[in-house]
Amino acid sequence: MHSAKTISPMPWMSEEELAGLFEALQGDVAQPAVLLVGGCVRNILMGVEVEDIDLAIVHKPEKVMKLLKEAGYSVIPTGLQHGTVTAVMNGKAFEITTLRHDKETDGRRATVEFTHDWLEDAKRRDFTINALYMDLSGNVYDPLGQGLGDIEDKTIRFVGEAAQRIEEDHLRILRFFRFHALYGGQDYDAEGLKACEAGADKIKTLSRERITQEFLKILASDDPQDILDIMFERNILKDLDFSASYPEKDFFRYFCNFQKKYRLSALSARIFVMAGLSMENMKELEEYLLLPKVFLKDAIALEGALNLSDLSCDSAVRESVYRFGRSTTAQAIMVELVQDRVMNSYASKALEIVQKWDVPDFPVSGEDIMNAGYEKGPEIGEALRSLENWWIEQDFKPDRDACLEKCVCKFK
Ligand code: ATP
Ligand code: MG
Repeated sequence: MHSAKTISPMPWMSEEELAGLFEALQGDVAQPAVLLVGGCVRNILMGVEVEDIDLAIVHKPEKVMKLLKEAGYSVIPTGLQHGTVTAVMNGKAFEITTLRHDKETDGRRATVEFTHDWLEDAKRRDFTINALYMDLSGNVYDPLGQGLGDIEDKTIRFVGEAAQRIEEDHLRILRFFRFHALYGGQDYDAEGLKACEAGADKIKTLSRERITQEFLKILASDDPQDILDIMFERNILKDLDFSASYPEKDFFRYFCNFQKKYRLSALSARIFVMAGLSMENMKELEEYLLLPKVFLKDAIALEGALNLSDLSCDSAVRESVYRFGRSTTAQAIMVELVQDRVMNSYASKALEIVQKWDVPDFPVSGEDIMNAGYEKGPEIGEALRSLENWWIEQDFKPDRDACLEKCVCKFK
């Protein structure tokens, strides 16, 4: 295999854990036995930070494990039937997969056959930009001869025939949009987009875990609104009943823009806005996605903050921070900016209060209320709550004595 181009290696490529791994697995064979592959190569070429390191190797998993153990790596047999093992040293993990091609596919899982052929391995990968390989000297290999050009043009293109690749694994539909959201240019590859649209019915056969993983990555991207627009437009998300009511798309767009502007991108708020700020839609979304429990909690809090009076003055912002926390209040302010309930000119000040205001503790306890003469029982909780509401209405100014006095007055 000949390299297609050579770039300067990244500093992390000479770190001992990775260099040692290549040494252990390459031996003294002239042809590459092991290469970096997939996301890490793509990201280097696109100038994007590398998060995890995947490697492809000609050796079978048993040999890989043996060589790694001999070189002092801990080895985890992550997915032996697919040829994947994970090597760990000094807390750094590397996923190593034997070259393979898919023998049988059913839309979700594949049975695989190992091979020595880099081109075969490249052909089973999803997109041309993900089918690039690199050694530690910076030599880049592009067995398909398409990946480097597509990186250049920011084209997300299926390897081979799009419709067939989707038939083999329906998750690739969502991956198409995910990679578009993260690395794509303005234009969609027409064949890919058409095949995704035609195959959209099949998404529901996938596990919620797999759908969720991809969907949340799309939603967490810098500008998810364009991708979601096209996904809804092309009926990719038709299994979501509320997709028909997604005309709130401008709302979602403006909200994401504010999150970006103020660098306050909470995913749970994004989802809630996408769901039209409706708990009912959130519940429906939960049938489609496996949302972390905290997302629903966050949505309830955000709904609570939005139900307070408009966050258009300092005392209202403070009340929201006190009742619902800083993060929820920041998100609520951005929702209200879109709704024109908060003026643009007030937003920075409001967000500064959210960040910097020292949240006070309510200075009165249940015991104080009892000492003031209330009967033990639910009355105490009620009295405490109504006193706290009064204290909040007074913009948290009354001190303990003033609160107690108010409490006694009430009792009298
Ligand atoms: P990132 O890790 O940044 O999310 P990635 O490209 O590394 O992106 P992974 O899901 O880690 O994505 O997969 C690693 C590589 O394995 C991909 O680059 C691709 O070559 C291949 N791959 C992963 N999932 C599929 C799939 N469903 N079909 C075909 N190839 C796949
Ligand atoms: Mg990866």
